[in-house]
Amino acid sequence: MHGQLRHLLSIVLGLGVAACAAPRLAPLDIPPLAAHVPRVAPVDFEHYTLDLRLDPQARSISGSCRIRFHPLETSLRELVLDAHDLAISGVTDGDGRALGFESSARELRVEFERALAPGTSHELVVRYSAQPRRGMHFVGARGELPTHVYTQGQCEDSAAWFPCWDEPAERATSELRVELPRGWISVAAGERIESRPTETGGTVDLWRMATPHPAYLTTLVAGELVELRDQWNDVPLSFLAPEKLEPWLESTFADTPQILDFFSELAGTRYPYEKYSQACVGNYPHGGMENISATTLTDACVGDPRGQLDYDATGLIAHEAAHQWFGNLITCADWSHVWLNEGFATYAELLYRESSRGVDDFRAAVRDVQDFYTASDVGALRRPHVWSTYREPFDLFTRGGQAYQGAASRLHLLRFQLGDDVFFRGLRRYVAEHRGRPVVTDDFRRTMERASGLDLQLFFDQWFFKPGYPEFEVSWQWNEARGVVRVDVKQAQLSADGTPAVFTVPVDLEVRDQLGARTTRVTVDQRNKSFELPAPSRPLWVVFDKHGWIPKRLVTQRSTAEWLALASMSDDVNERREALRELGLTLARETDADLRWRIAETILGGLQDRSPAV
Ligand SMILES: [Zn+2]
Repeated sequence: MHGQLRHLLSIVLGLGVAACAAPRLAPLDIPPLAAHVPRVAPVDFEHYTLDLRLDPQARSISGSCRIRFHPLETSLRELVLDAHDLAISGVTDGDGRALGFESSARELRVEFERALAPGTSHELVVRYSAQPRRGMHFVGARGELPTHVYTQGQCEDSAAWFPCWDEPAERATSELRVELPRGWISVAAGERIESRPTETGGTVDLWRMATPHPAYLTTLVAGELVELRDQWNDVPLSFLAPEKLEPWLESTFADTPQILDFFSELAGTRYPYEKYSQACVGNYPHGGMENISATTLTDACVGDPRGQLDYDATGLIAHEAAHQWFGNLITCADWSHVWLNEGFATYAELLYRESSRGVDDFRAAVRDVQDFYTASDVGALRRPHVWSTYREPFDLFTRGGQAYQGAASRLHLLRFQLGDDVFFRGLRRYVAEHRGRPVVTDDFRRTMERASGLDLQLFFDQWFFKPGYPEFEVSWQWNEARGVVRVDVKQAQLSADGTPAVFTVPVDLEVRDQLGARTTRVTVDQRNKSFELPAPSRPLWVVFDKHGWIPKRLVTQRSTAEWLALASMSDDVNERREALRELGLTLARETDADLRWRIAETILGGLQDRSPAV
């Protein structure tokens, strides 16, 4: 999933639903804050077959869900499924014999006449209808009628439109047969097997997803939509949106083939599904959702050429495409490890940027991501990246910046520590070893240890299982007599909330003097540590963490002369950017006329910078 506004919007929309709801509906539950232990399914779910009819006028669905499974426990007498506010009219076994059941607002409990033995294959069929308040949304308006519908399963809302085991660790194949009103088209997970007209002028589409996947990635988008088609190698591509957006659909998604090429290479695994569709829908509060082989996006990402100058959807499109590997082919085993989905997609989005727009643009974007994270992971929102205490799993996505920006910043740091060759080889190995499986953080650690030959326990403990980030205070002094520069590094972060008092991390120090720039890698592993580096002439600058690999706060005392040198001569986009910002502040308070002139000249020079990010 992607989009910073989603939490706020979900609150606003949630209140909207509550305010507009018919009086007979109970208010939406707000669960208590609690530590969550993932449920273990008593059966292996093999296949879901959904057979649904849409009624846009009533904003409802009706039909059946056939589930094939085999018991893992001995003597299975009952099966409890997630089913949120579904009106269940009957449950049968695969041969049509009625089964006993009880349903509540959250669950469907099915009783078997006799105990089922482990390893034997069984089916049950649930007939139901629903007017979903979550999980499925009828949107758009033609008079009183909605014009389209979309589903949004993540995290636990698929159960609001079909009975299922709604945990990310459980994977099954799926099939969706949907009867659509006249003039509607559909897209869902996997391949369209058939599409035939009904006697009433509508259509029945049948979609089949052959790759096992978690229930939350099951999807349906349908409506009065236009569809453009394209091809990436032998994989069909399609782009859907409300008709008014058709003129700009092609240009909005023009990067899709290059994005699929790039991630196939990054993951070392070719795009793994039958097709890739991207459907744009109205009233969509999440930015995008990586439903398997069938991404759903906000229609706000489609714009005319002038709009695309203001809002470029390429990052969003790349993010959801990256999830098709990182999140869908490999899925976090439970939501406490959601960074394995979102941190990877966020970093992959940045890597596509590095490949398509160059290193300056990439470094500036990484810095923005790091800054977003360090501004978010504060106060009551501070927590380790792996964390299981929440009201709803969605809290882990939206609060504190850990799942997306914090985790992407840590992957960037791991790349620095391992080097490009080992890091990217490790990523490919991670995909190869874990494809089709749920994963936890230790799975990724062990793969990267095998790829690097290093013990990474300290790295993962420090950055994923403990909270926070280092806050450095750095100063330097040149000793002319000894021809050295001393760099003093203090870690000033408070540790009462569990943040490590000392982060152990390698750091590149750059000293730039008349002879040129020299980078030295040192290890910071104490609360206060000093380093002496050769400097036969007075340094023009000293940079702590050259190219900004570490998620951190950094306070550095610099003279105006040092900022001037960085602004005009640094090879790093963020150093030039920061120096120009500082010089702007200095200009406002500087009284020396000559110095003011030099500062103004340097700032004007910055307007000609080779990187637009500056
Ligand atoms: Zn995402």
